Amino acid sequence: MSASDKNVLIVGGGLAGLACAIRLHEAGARTTIFEQSDDVGGRVRTDLMDGFLLDRGFQVFLDAYPEAGHLLNRQGLDLRAFKPGALIYTPSGMRRVMDVTREPRHFMASVLAPVGSLADKLRVAALKMRLMRVSREDTAAHEDMTTERYLERAGFTPSMIDGFFRSFYGGIFLERDLHTSSRMFEFTFKMFSQGSATLPSAGMGAIPRQLASRLPADTIRLGATVTAIQSGRVTLDSGEQCHGDAVVVATDGSTAAGLLPASAVDAPFWRSVTCLYFAAPRSPLREPIIALNGTGSGLVNNVCVPSDVAPDYAPPGQALVSVSVLGTVNPEGLESRVLSELEAWLGSTVRAWRHLRTYRIERALPKQAPGTGLTGPGFRKEGGVYLCGDHLWSASIEGALISGLRTADAILQPS
Ligand SMILES: Cc1cc2nc3c(=O)[nH]c(=O)nc-3n(C[C@H](O)[C@H](O)[C@H](O)COP(=O)(O)OP(=O)(O)OC[C@H]3O[C@@H](n4cnc5c(N)ncnc54)[C@H](O)[C@@H]3O)c2cc1C
Repeated sequence: MSASDKNVLIVGGGLAGLACAIRLHEAGARTTIFEQSDDVGGRVRTDLMDGFLLDRGFQVFLDAYPEAGHLLNRQGLDLRAFKPGALIYTPSGMRRVMDVTREPRHFMASVLAPVGSLADKLRVAALKMRLMRVSREDTAAHEDMTTERYLERAGFTPSMIDGFFRSFYGGIFLERDLHTSSRMFEFTFKMFSQGSATLPSAGMGAIPRQLASRLPADTIRLGATVTAIQSGRVTLDSGEQCHGDAVVVATDGSTAAGLLPASAVDAPFWRSVTCLYFAAPRSPLREPIIALNGTGSGLVNNVCVPSDVAPDYAPPGQALVSVSVLGTVNPEGLESRVLSELEAWLGSTVRAWRHLRTYRIERALPKQAPGTGLTGPGFRKEGGVYLCGDHLWSASIEGALISGLRTADAILQPS
């Protein structure tokens, strides 16, 4: 059967499902995406509220992601970059630690910041040089261990690990224990070294919207929840049955585990996060940078002002503040607890903030223990059904796209 004769049913319109559909469509196959929600994007969506763009959980697009670079029109996304480095809230106040190879004017402030030793800062530079030279395939072949162990073996002091890595990578892995795979750390560190953390000017939801615009309009069926899957057939909650030559399950790992026989896929353990948004009369940071909690205690892990990065995130004359708290903590009085904590970081300016919305995201990232991820085919085939998604490659935008593309390539193989 040639590609143009194939009719493929895709369950889930997140990044993996969209990437899979684009590759199949461009090869001439017919595809239908069944998406239960009211729009595409899955975990990458943006809500508009009172003129503010609220991403569903703070997240960034790393513009060095190789596969995303091929698939997306980055110019069309109008990506706006964060500064390379961070402000770190320490017991002695806010300190600045920058990537001095790109921000040399901050050399002295970064070297003198009481976060790690001078030797730690040289180790960061050496690690950057080393990882920039190795390919993604090489990092995938490296010995895998927890990120914490990896950093200890690399010689970083507890002060650097606790004061910087736990909060910076805590915000990426959504856990401060640094139990995530060191391969994932190396991959992410390399991406930060080679490029910038960015936001599309119209919000993170612009990424799936751009992908969806490359598909014929009738490819995507919104509000279509799939309740049962067999080889070559999906059943919707309306009772409708649809038939195709191949079925792709591009949902998150837990949903896939519920839709397929028990042995097909293990439901992942999830990392959760709570993201609070506030409207402020002016930016408390006044620059496109992330501020991290380097104290080792408190609720808040990281703060930033998306409208300092991309002005359209807030209406004129206002600023949007995004605050991430790891896990899904007790919601009782959370907003006021967060604000009183941030008053110590940023001063009395926080009293003028207005709470906009809080997102509690239970299923944010599948846990990535050592020995999982960034290796293997990036998809599975079980009982005639293909499975893809970030849980099968890496918990990231890049990982979801790679998984979707590789699934499409497997389907397009001549049978
Ligand atoms: C708060 C947060 C922060 C993050 N930070 C970053 C970051 O900074 N950088 C980065 O690269 N990545 C980040 N990620 C990870 C990244 O967003 C995900 O890895 C990626 O979007 C997963 O895409 P996916 O297509 O595999 O799955 P999903 O996005 O989960 O898509 C699955 C789709 O399937 C649909 N679906 C589920 N069940 C059914 C059903 N029965 N029938 C029909 N449709 C169904 C869902 O509605 C959804 O649209 C973050 C994620 C979150 C949540």
